[in-house]
Amino acid sequence: MNAENLTISPIPIFQDNYIWCLTRPSQAAMAVVDPGDAAAVIDFATSNAKTLSTILITHHHWDHTDGIAILKQKFPEARVIGPAYEAAKIEGLTELVEDDDSIVLPELELELQVLHVPGHTLGHIAYYQAPRLFCGDTLFSAGCGRLFEGSPEQMHQSLQRLAQLPDDTEIYCTHEYTLANLAFAREVEPTNQAVIAAQAECRQRRNNQLPTLPSTLLHEKAINPFLRCQEPELQTKYGTESTEATFAALRSAKDQFIPK
Ligand SMILES: [Zn+2]
Repeated sequence: MNAENLTISPIPIFQDNYIWCLTRPSQAAMAVVDPGDAAAVIDFATSNAKTLSTILITHHHWDHTDGIAILKQKFPEARVIGPAYEAAKIEGLTELVEDDDSIVLPELELELQVLHVPGHTLGHIAYYQAPRLFCGDTLFSAGCGRLFEGSPEQMHQSLQRLAQLPDDTEIYCTHEYTLANLAFAREVEPTNQAVIAAQAECRQRRNNQLPTLPSTLLHEKAINPFLRCQEPELQTKYGTESTEATFAALRSAKDQFIPK
């Protein structure tokens, strides 16, 4: 499968969501991940002369799924792929997928692997084709999703699974939360030079209205406290002796964190 020549464009919607849009210059087809808003996708398709062929859904929250109904009216042929685990909570899915399934999108020369990554929601899935990961609200740059349904153990395990992917994996998550996440990362690891450098760089990108995404797994391992639960500094800070306990302490601290 051809990983070259694929264009991945962020369509910003709402306060801080991105709809990731996958196209190839030579093809009319396009796929989108988590279309919370239909109008933005239709505008993008129209101005780029594309026809929506596939919708990929990571989990059932409205800001990831609200565009489905109108997009299906506009593009009746489009496949709508989402997690079998949450099928009852998402209207309009045409294909249900489970962990380790493979999804072939011939029109875009893509073959994506499904990874079940529970935590933010219980049925949350990510889509992966080296070197790209579409991970919804599971792994963010410098942070991770809130635990609306799953346990800290589940989310920790899901993040550990994602951390096994190659270091050059590009992280396409759904929210522009990076600066707020970095403020927390700085609070818990005040001397982490990678965090300090990332803050400066991301501030500049946001001042220029540029996304801070995609990130890479290698970068996340340096700046993301939720991928750094093995660090002695963090274990000392929280008085924990396992990576699981450190993760749980970090997640709970982040839920209460108010940036200065
Ligand atoms: Zn969500």
